Amino acid sequence: MMKIAVLPGDGIGPEIVAQAVKVLRALGLEMQLDEAPIGGAGYEAAGDPLPADTLALAKAADAVLLGAVGDWKYDSLPRDMRPERGLLRIRKELNLFANLRPALLYAELASASTLKPEVVSGLDLMIVRELTGDIYFGQPRGISTLANGEREGINTMRYNESEIRRIGHVAFQIAMKRNKKVCSVDKANVLEATELWRQVMIEISREYPEVELSHMYVDNAAMQLVRAPKQFDVMVTGNIFGDILSDEASMLTGSIGMLPSASLDANNKGMYEPSHGSAPDIAGKDVANPLATILSVAMMLRYTFNDETNAVRIENAVKQALAEGYRTADIYTDGCKKVKCSEMGDAVVAAL
Ligand code: NAD
Repeated sequence: MMKIAVLPGDGIGPEIVAQAVKVLRALGLEMQLDEAPIGGAGYEAAGDPLPADTLALAKAADAVLLGAVGDWKYDSLPRDMRPERGLLRIRKELNLFANLRPALLYAELASASTLKPEVVSGLDLMIVRELTGDIYFGQPRGISTLANGEREGINTMRYNESEIRRIGHVAFQIAMKRNKKVCSVDKANVLEATELWRQVMIEISREYPEVELSHMYVDNAAMQLVRAPKQFDVMVTGNIFGDILSDEASMLTGSIGMLPSASLDANNKGMYEPSHGSAPDIAGKDVANPLATILSVAMMLRYTFNDETNAVRIENAVKQALAEGYRTADIYTDGCKKVKCSEMGDAVVAAL
């Protein structure tokens, strides 16, 4: 039986997760779903953005379905109590080192992109981002006061060889199932940590002779993503570059509300969540786009439960709902049927 921890989180999290759970249940599979608070909701419930019970539940589950965390009202809390810390900690605790973020443009939404349709139509890109290392975790870090009284902020970019190696293997293995191209993104001309990244990627590539490896500096990659994004198949990069590039890639597809993500450990246990945040500006209004979360459930079935059939069923149901003209406000264009978050969930269930 599939054991899934459901962590709705904050803002629009509960609304979008409710739709994803509705779709998951509609598959009629045997499953156990257990819900727990995280982020601001965790702080409210237990004084901790990652309550011990929530972490225990997540550790015992096969997979975690997460909504989003964060709200401006928590911005004044000490850093360790802020919702985002809960997210960083659960990724670290579950050893979720590989973040998979597909950017796929549905034909029905080609006009929603700010780029010309010919530049983006048919886009099918997978960004593989390292998630537990890099400047977000490196020590030393902090803000201190220097001898002259001036304050100084410090963060440290660090990567060791084994961290680079394991994310490299994930990228090459995904490329083997796709178009067999990996572009490794670094800043090897300036940063030693990424000079090592490049060396290790070259070493790993010898184990995958069928895969073509290329390298790109991150500034150029940012430019190429908007100039000619279809040149990429799998892009692999570190935590901070991946954070920025995957948001950029998401915009190629028109709305951040469409993009799922998966974060995997070495045994394909995963946490699945939309790529967007908690959107406090629209929370509680039943207007958010639930498709990224619903598509995250498809990724869960594919990567953790090895159930390609039901993953494709969900993806096709989403395509059908779009083809039938259903649109939430963020992807609405004239002539379509504007629906609420819950109605979009119903449309996907009906299409199933
Ligand atoms: P955001 O992704 O929450 O929102 C950015 C914009 O996109 C907003 O205008 C929002 O309304 C819109 N949007 C996002 N998801 C949408 C959806 N499903 N449907 C329709 N519109 C959608 O980013 P932000 O505003 O920078 O951050 C808001 C909060 O979310 C902050 O507290 C931030 O820390 C947090 N955050 C959380 C995560 C996460 O949980 N993974 C990721 C990013 C930001």
